[in-house]
Amino acid sequence: RAIVRDLTGVAEQNPALPPGRVPIQEVDPTVFETRFLRKIKDLGEGHFGKVELCQYDPRGDGRGQLVAVKSLKPESRGQLWKEIDTMRELYHHNIVKYRGVCSEEGGRTTKLIMEYLPAGSLKDYLPWRKHQTDLKRLLHYALQICQGMDYLGSQRFIHRDLAARNVLVENESTVKIGDFGLTKSMKEDKSYYTVEEETDSPVFWYAPECLVDCKFYPASDVWSFGVTLYELLTYCETRVRPVNMYLNKIPGGQMIITRLVEVLMAGRRLPCPPHCPDAVYSLMRRCWESSPENRIQFKDLITELELLLD
Ligand code: ADP
Ligand code: MG
Repeated sequence: RAIVRDLTGVAEQNPALPPGRVPIQEVDPTVFETRFLRKIKDLGEGHFGKVELCQYDPRGDGRGQLVAVKSLKPESRGQLWKEIDTMRELYHHNIVKYRGVCSEEGGRTTKLIMEYLPAGSLKDYLPWRKHQTDLKRLLHYALQICQGMDYLGSQRFIHRDLAARNVLVENESTVKIGDFGLTKSMKEDKSYYTVEEETDSPVFWYAPECLVDCKFYPASDVWSFGVTLYELLTYCETRVRPVNMYLNKIPGGQMIITRLVEVLMAGRRLPCPPHCPDAVYSLMRRCWESSPENRIQFKDLITELELLLD
């Protein structure tokens, strides 16, 4: 009621405002109304959802801001609020910015609004930029990913889906971590999170403890970072992507995980990408230590990458 009274005051002091209209700065900037959201094109689709480029144009003059709008497939809709709650808490230069939510029909369909990164994911971007992207640039991307991940860990989150497809490109010198759909917050007293249901997991980015015991530690994200670094150094080329390197012939269904675990338990790892310096490959190997406690941490990865970039 106090707010209504204040606004009435504003309207009285400001005769230019039509009666019943709220001045624009009084509106919650994180609440987007469906009727002002105009789709421009599809941006991408993953396991759980789809992302569209939209213009948010409440003034109707075609000059509204461009935003990326994520909605989830019907079967995983309940998940979106978790993703929204995670993104809301994160502020870092290398993490995709949360802008707000758009809900209609009493919250039955909710959409996540985030900043739009025109160049898309590293997986869309790198294969086309091979010749403009040298080793130094790749290592800069790797460093930024580690900085974002180190921050995420400091906020006690585990990402669980770190991969080139989930790293977005702002411009040729800046990348940001996105897709917090699988991110879990750790309970205060636990250093890992146990997954209850086996969803359509990105198994080729997973560490052995995730595949065998469904346990996710911060160190499990480090393993996935190692695979992401491998993707960077191979420019996300389909021919040498992780699944092809681990398994020559892909068997059906559950067999994939069984076969992958056998390969990893036997000590096999992804190969050194062509033209990848030994020092960079040895960083990957330190991400792929079998036991989580022996793996390098994001803080040390930052130091090592900075040394390599010096
Ligand atoms: P999913 O949970 O379904 O995997 P993502 O959040 O990973 O969904 O988004 C799917 C794809 O959409 C990404 O791989 C990327 O190509 C594109 N995308 C997602 N967010 C943005 C954004 N903010 N700006 C531009 N493209 C995006
Ligand atoms: Mg994704």
